Amino acid sequence: MTKPLIVITGASSGIGAETARLFAAEGHPLLLLARRLELLEELGLPDALCRKVDVTDRDAVAAAVREAQERHGPADAIVNNAGAMLLGRVADQPVDEWDRMIDLNIKGVLYGIRAVLPGMLARGAGTVINISSVAGRKTFPNHTAYVATKFAVHALSENLREEVAASGVRVVTIAPGAVETELLSHTSDERIKSDYRAWKESAGGALAPRAVAEAVAYAYRQPPEVTIREIVLAATGQES
Ligand code: NDP
Repeated sequence: MTKPLIVITGASSGIGAETARLFAAEGHPLLLLARRLELLEELGLPDALCRKVDVTDRDAVAAAVREAQERHGPADAIVNNAGAMLLGRVADQPVDEWDRMIDLNIKGVLYGIRAVLPGMLARGAGTVINISSVAGRKTFPNHTAYVATKFAVHALSENLREEVAASGVRVVTIAPGAVETELLSHTSDERIKSDYRAWKESAGGALAPRAVAEAVAYAYRQPPEVTIREIVLAATGQES
C-alpha cells in the first residue's frame, strides 16, 4: 500500500531535515518547504517535492500544499517545524528580531495548519505535529521573545487539539530541549551566543536531531484512536 503524504516545514537543516530522512526511509511521499531550495534538493530523498517557500507567506504555503496534494493525494500529517531562536534582552534586542520570530514561529505554524486542516476535517483523519520547545513550558535567560513564541505554540496546539478532537484529527506538540543544529547561529548577540554554547557544554552536549525526529515519528505511528498530546525530551544532562 502506498503511504500518505507528509508535509515538513523547515526541512533544509536540523530537525526538519532529519525528520524528512526518517519519513522518506519509511516510504512516505513528502512536501519539503524552506527558503534554501538547494539544501532541500541536496537531501536527495525519493518522492520529495521540494519548494522554496517562506512559511510567513500564507498563500505560498497553501499553493505548495495544493500542488503536493494534487500529485500525492491528501496530506496525512504536517510537521510545523520551521522556526528561529533569536536570543536577546528586551531592553536592547533589535525589535525586528521579535517581529521575525512572531511571524515565523507563530504565524508560520498557523499558516501550515490552515493549509491542511480543512481537508483533514473533511476526511476525519490527519495529524498536526507542531515543534515547540522546552522554552514553550518554562523560561530561560535572554529568551523572553523566543519563549513568548514557543508558549504560543504550546497554547495554540492544545487549543486546536480540543477544537478538532471529536473530528478524528490529532494534534501533537513536540518540546525538545537543546538540539545540535543551526538554530543558535542566527542570534545576533555574540556574548549571548557564547554563553549559550557554554551552558550546552556544561550539560554534556545537546540532543542529536535524530532523537527529535524519532519522537515525531513515534507520535505519528500511533493508531488513529491514540493521540500523543505532548512529548518533552532533552539531553539527560540538561537540568533546566
Ligand atoms: P535549524 O536552524 O537547523 O532549522 C530551522 C529550519 O527552519 C531551517 O530548515 C530553515 O530553513 C527553516 N526556516 C527558517 N525560517 C524560515 C522561513 N521564513 N520559511 C521557511 N522555513 C524557514 O534549527 P532546528 O532544526 O533546531 O529548528 C527546528 C525547530 O525546532 C524550530 O522551530 C526550533 O525552534 C525548534 N527547537 C529547536 C531546538 C534546538 O535546540 N535546536 C530546541 C527546541 C526547539 P531556511 O533557512 O532554508 O528557510
